[in-house]
Amino acid sequence: MIIQLQSEMNQADQQFIVDAVVGQSFTVNEINTQQGKYLVCIGKNDIDMRTIGNLPGVKDIHRVSDPYKLVSSKWKVGKSAIDIGDGIKIGNGDFQVMAGPCSIEGEEQIRSTIKHLKSLGIKIMRGGVYKPRSSPYSFRGLGMEGLKLWHQIAKENDIKIITEVMQVSQIEPMHDYIDIFQVGARNSQNFNLLDELGKVDKPVMLKRGISGTVDELLQSAEYIFSNGNEKIMLCERGIRTFEKAYRNTMDINAIAILKERSHLPVIADPSHGIGIRKYVDKIAMASVVVGADAVIMEVHECPEKAFSDGQQTLDYKQSENLMDKMGRLRAML
Ligand code: PEP
Ligand code: MN
Repeated sequence: MIIQLQSEMNQADQQFIVDAVVGQSFTVNEINTQQGKYLVCIGKNDIDMRTIGNLPGVKDIHRVSDPYKLVSSKWKVGKSAIDIGDGIKIGNGDFQVMAGPCSIEGEEQIRSTIKHLKSLGIKIMRGGVYKPRSSPYSFRGLGMEGLKLWHQIAKENDIKIITEVMQVSQIEPMHDYIDIFQVGARNSQNFNLLDELGKVDKPVMLKRGISGTVDELLQSAEYIFSNGNEKIMLCERGIRTFEKAYRNTMDINAIAILKERSHLPVIADPSHGIGIRKYVDKIAMASVVVGADAVIMEVHECPEKAFSDGQQTLDYKQSENLMDKMGRLRAML
């Protein structure tokens, strides 16, 4: 059960509500986010909600049977839109494409990518400066120095930055240089990291774990929300299955299910989702059809020379074609 509280309510009224709910054998979690105040109540009793709903300070009360609560669509009217700043929004009808290289490689690459993205009307650039790699001997990113350089050029050119944060100690140094924190598939259940990202005032794009279920992704999102940050986006990036014909199995089903179970925006990552360049456009289109609120894709001037994930990265012409196709598809839908 979720009880939404009035934002300016006095402590005595709040305590009265808590006591009333505890009296009905519920445990109560008091959640304060940047946007609201909630009591998340866990219990099995079938109570008459009117007895709580009429108390002073209660804005609304909802029964939520899902294991995740605040990210569930069962209590919130409508869909959440995430404000990235400067009028850029994702969700509730606002669609964006985020694009850029797998890894940030240097100044020339940053400038060339930004010029290309801007020519396509793309407002958010992706890129990793901390790269989780299967081998410790692979390129692992330019770190904070690369991020600072990227930030400076992005600012000059009015383009937003999404990049992966891999550990708690990186959050603070990265904070002022990014617009969206990305949590990678390998960290999808790093609950310490999720707790800490709940305390920042920047949007978080949370990727599904490599073998994570839809429920696990939503539970992970609940960690961020319940720590105070409502600006969460869920990302389907493919899961590991028995199939070896492609890198990952892009779970298109999950996009449709997530859109129904949660009010949060759902992002599709077709690049990692299939892992093979020549199919990325088709998977991106399919994602749009099932209702993705944004697509994040890997783009590089010369994918063959990319420091990472070149095999699934689109070149400039391919990304231009895909933007055109997605635009037409969306207009049709
Ligand atoms: C990436 O976005 O480059 C990345 C490493 O993604 P994932 O965490 O989905 O593997
Ligand atoms: Mn990548």
